[in-house]
Amino acid sequence: MKIIEQYLTRNDCYTTNETIQPTGIMVHSTTVPGMTPEEWVKVWNKSYKAGEIELEVCVHAFVDDEKVIKCLPWNHRGWHAGGAANNTHISFEICEPRGYYYINGFTMVGYDPKEHADYFKKIWDNSVELCAMLCKEYNIKTDQIITHSEGHDMGLASDHKDVMHWFPKHGVDMDDFRKAVSDALKAE
Ligand SMILES: [Zn+2]
Repeated sequence: MKIIEQYLTRNDCYTTNETIQPTGIMVHSTTVPGMTPEEWVKVWNKSYKAGEIELEVCVHAFVDDEKVIKCLPWNHRGWHAGGAANNTHISFEICEPRGYYYINGFTMVGYDPKEHADYFKKIWDNSVELCAMLCKEYNIKTDQIITHSEGHDMGLASDHKDVMHWFPKHGVDMDDFRKAVSDALKAE
């Protein structure tokens, strides 16, 4: 898995220089079909204070089927959860494939799991590998890997449904994901 470093130096989150001691990982997905990590970096490498972007958002990385683009140092405080998880969790956004659309924010319309099986397998493997690497580096337990929707249920994040609006379409959930990371760590 390729990790490309491209820090969002123009984003106000980056310039706060706040650091955290990571104890967990929060998995997000973009809920925007077909937008690549490179495109996300362009859109988010902007200053809210300067009026260049409408949201105060910043994650540690974007993942797609080919690579990870790292946008912040892993121990930088991110702006991804809309809640207390920002103080504890490393975050990444999984980029979604193209070929469908959304209604009501989190309902996929026209998503064909068969058509996207190959892409999904690749983003799954890349995400598992990234989490295994981070768990090792920061001594994070795999049960501390949560998705945005779980973070909301735990009172740590805003009311978003990612990634559980998507993963079950491929017959998997976050327990499967955590187990895959555990297996990857055991295999090393
Ligand atoms: Zn999210």
